[in-house]
Amino acid sequence: MGGLMTIGLMVAGLVFGFNPSKLIGLTNSLGGGGGGLGLPTGGGVEYDANAAKNDEDAQFVSAILGYTEDTWTQVFKSYGAKYQPPKLVMFEKSVRSACGTQSSAAGPFYCPGDNQVYIDLDFFRELKKMGAPGDFARAYVIGHEVAHHIQNLQGISMKVQRQQRQVSKTQANRLSVLTELQADCYAGVWVHHTQKRTKFLELGDLEEGLNAAAQIGDDVLLRKAGHTPHESMYTHGSAAQRQEWFTKGIQFGDMRQCDTFGLAGVSL
Ligand SMILES: [Zn+2]
Repeated sequence: MGGLMTIGLMVAGLVFGFNPSKLIGLTNSLGGGGGGLGLPTGGGVEYDANAAKNDEDAQFVSAILGYTEDTWTQVFKSYGAKYQPPKLVMFEKSVRSACGTQSSAAGPFYCPGDNQVYIDLDFFRELKKMGAPGDFARAYVIGHEVAHHIQNLQGISMKVQRQQRQVSKTQANRLSVLTELQADCYAGVWVHHTQKRTKFLELGDLEEGLNAAAQIGDDVLLRKAGHTPHESMYTHGSAAQRQEWFTKGIQFGDMRQCDTFGLAGVSL
């Protein structure tokens, strides 16, 4: 199998005159040298002590993680690369990670240091109260966090963090926005290919996902907290921007269309 794949890649290289995986910056995951990223733990789900295992919400999270594993494996393969899935940790109240101890107030997050996606089940129940009901609102959030893992595999997270340490707070926020919008776009790419593969979308799902993207837009959250939104305060992007990039991913299903950095004239 390995030999066949190598030959296939060589043929692709001869025909196209380039290394296909270079297109999306995935050469690291081909050779297995993680480039100092730390080796992913090999996927699967883990439960923190406080999280209820048999919970319906927990089963839903596991199912969506499964969709991300299958779809990203297929997408990476199409670029001639091998996908290394993240491990997903479900927690309630608080959790310890390589990124420090986080409380539920922080919401779901991805920690590049241990390659793990942390999903807070309390936050999932809160999404409805935040004006983002529906199972696909949750699927979008998981898709977005897994997208941060993709960015980590591509080496993007590391480059962004390095630049952020050298610039002003406003500039660092701008880099954060570009990272988050790219993650929204990747989440859309995941939806595109999962739909193609499994027809998993039900009536109203896309609306639920797009609505969730808007409800956690910086302008909406700032306004809810009693602030006047200003672009320099954004860390994730406005409601309109988040919807726009999520939609772009869904429409094209092409990671190369998600180059938020290039479009903003930022070279990493
Ligand atoms: Zn994010």
